[in-house]
Amino acid sequence: MADRPGGPATFPRPVLAANWKMNNGPAQAKSFVDAFLQEYAARNDRTIVVFPPALSLPAVAAGVRGRTDIRVGTQNIHWAQKGAFTGEISAEMARDAGASLVLVGHSERRHVFGETDDMCAKKCAAAERAGLAFMLCVGETLEQREAGATESVVLGQLEAGLSGLRDLSTVNLLLAYEPVWAIGTGLNAKPGDASAIHALLRSKLHDIVGERAAAIPILYGGSVNDGNARVLLAAPEVDGLLVGGASVEVASWLRISGVP
Ligand code: PEP
Repeated sequence: MADRPGGPATFPRPVLAANWKMNNGPAQAKSFVDAFLQEYAARNDRTIVVFPPALSLPAVAAGVRGRTDIRVGTQNIHWAQKGAFTGEISAEMARDAGASLVLVGHSERRHVFGETDDMCAKKCAAAERAGLAFMLCVGETLEQREAGATESVVLGQLEAGLSGLRDLSTVNLLLAYEPVWAIGTGLNAKPGDASAIHALLRSKLHDIVGERAAAIPILYGGSVNDGNARVLLAAPEVDGLLVGGASVEVASWLRISGVP
């Protein structure tokens, strides 16, 4: 189903999302999509999302056109609509280039580029303004985990991220729980620990958006690969996976996309 500006989109679960980070430029992105589509037949029991680098968005969007089971998102936006922000792109530009989703608050944005909760809130609001869905990422660092602050950190990031939205009854939202210590490290949260945090996030979402919380996909991310995807996806409350390194190569992504 296509995203409808202003209306809630549906995301058949599980949602399997590929964050290519700074990999797969336009030519490689096209080859990836061609190879992926040759093997991956349309199915309505899951949603595939691809977050290519912004320059590769048009190639990916053109490649998957007509495949309503595959969504294309951008990895980052600026919150302004246009202006003197060299190097940035707006939600409207991403939408016009073929994106229907935005990734907000990825740990690399927060910890490498200094993105704050306030900036994340503005980006979520910009996505809402442009009629885009957004996937808000939350997660604790190792220090925060060891200090017993995991719950307060992720709940704080969630509340802050949603604080600038205009209409919580129509906003198209997904969440990703990505412990910072698990991203790109080969370490995973235990499935039971992921479930517990997802349940906590869902309960907070319920406080914020009411009954709609049950329909909001909450993904797990952090060193997911084709060897551990199945067990993580089987964990209660885990509605999907956000995958970085293991999504960049088509063979590996095909195996994850087809996880039973
Ligand atoms: C990510 O980029 O969101 C991620 C989880 O990366 P990786 O799978 O490489 O840990």
